[in-house]
Amino acid sequence: MQSICILGSTGSIGQSTIDVILRHPQEFQVFALTAHKNVNLLIQQAVLCQPQFVVLADEQNYTQAKALVLQHGLRCTVLCGQDALQQVACASDVDIVMAAIVGAAGLLPTLAAVNAGKKVLLANKEALVMSGELFIHAANQSKAQLLPIDSEHNAIFQCLPFDFEYGNLAASGIRKILLTGSGGPFLKTPLETLSSVTPQQACAHPNWDMGRKISVDSATMMNKGLEFIEARWLFGLQSKDIEVVLHPQSIIHSMVQYCDGSILAQLGNPDMRTPIAHALAYPKRIESGVAPLNFMQLADFSFCAPDVGRYPNLKLAIDASNAGQSATTVLNAANEIAVEAFLQERIRFTQIATVNENCLNAIASQEVSNINSIIELDQRARRQALVAIEQLKQTSISMSTGHA
Ligand code: NAD
Ligand code: MG
Repeated sequence: MQSICILGSTGSIGQSTIDVILRHPQEFQVFALTAHKNVNLLIQQAVLCQPQFVVLADEQNYTQAKALVLQHGLRCTVLCGQDALQQVACASDVDIVMAAIVGAAGLLPTLAAVNAGKKVLLANKEALVMSGELFIHAANQSKAQLLPIDSEHNAIFQCLPFDFEYGNLAASGIRKILLTGSGGPFLKTPLETLSSVTPQQACAHPNWDMGRKISVDSATMMNKGLEFIEARWLFGLQSKDIEVVLHPQSIIHSMVQYCDGSILAQLGNPDMRTPIAHALAYPKRIESGVAPLNFMQLADFSFCAPDVGRYPNLKLAIDASNAGQSATTVLNAANEIAVEAFLQERIRFTQIATVNENCLNAIASQEVSNINSIIELDQRARRQALVAIEQLKQTSISMSTGHA
């Protein structure tokens, strides 16, 4: 029986994880569930999973959670706050940690799991993008097993040879990693109308049902940019080793191209329960609840190159990856603020890239070798992003009133 801590259990990945786990009651038990502030869903999940701990990052909801635990006769302890997230992630009773908090908020709890040498199922790509070298170094030191949940990285992992040496593509006869992406909901939207798309349109992904932040990232293709950086760290790749390929149907989840002309791809219906089940049971295979692909019903199966004019964020991310760690920390933080501002309709969709670029230009590259310097830089980039957003607002006010 493996004991699991699900960080971010109330999110899209968290809910899919619970769905898979409940299909295998003999193999997995839930040790802890954590959420930001969705108390009702967290307690509903606790009723189903009977964890020892439920954790709320936001301390304001403690009393309500306590009352609900009593009302449902649950025998779990309620904890609150950031430290509690880390505490359950590295608890000695835990074997597996699902890192599914969205954004930088997931960095410290995920690192706590890594430092404790857990089997870490990594969905929270932002944590790796922010802290790449430090994160991978910590995993090497503690012998934590990192298994990718992001569908592309999970696909690549499945297509690599079992004896793949980190960073050594040539030794395995690999020519390239083909990182696929759908292009999101605005693949064919006329470019001149992109500035007026709404948050609701941006969150309506054609193939995947995901949280709002990653949905907007998919629409701007910042998601593919973050995944480019994530792939470099997870597999020890150089930029030239990765090619981004658009595949609007999201059936192929990524590919590995070998020097003999073979290309191995991982295919399946776009449902995150497949990579989750793969990583949970690895190296075994278990049922995930995902229906098999029906090839007779697949209509188009197409591929093209991403258009940089349509997806400026993809280029910003690849350039930041080439510039080094501090640029990717800045970009991740700026993007979190810009996406939030777009979701609150304080900036336009196309201004997400403007804010990101402003922050990358405003903050010089610097050494970030420890966690404190990473967090400081992240905070600085967030402040800069807010300044950039304010400037955009002032510019649009003066343009609409005709003042210079
Ligand atoms: P989501 O918004 O649906 O869920 C996020 C979870 O994080 C929730 O449980 C929420 O309570 C928690 N959370 C949010 N802010 C927090 C805070 N400040 N402190 C503590 N907890 C907090 O997001 P999601 O779509 O499930 O994505 C989660 C992560 O997985 C992201 O990093 C995303 O990039 C990655 N991912 C998601 C998918 C997908 O299909 N949804 C696919 C690949 C990768
Ligand atoms: Mg992905």
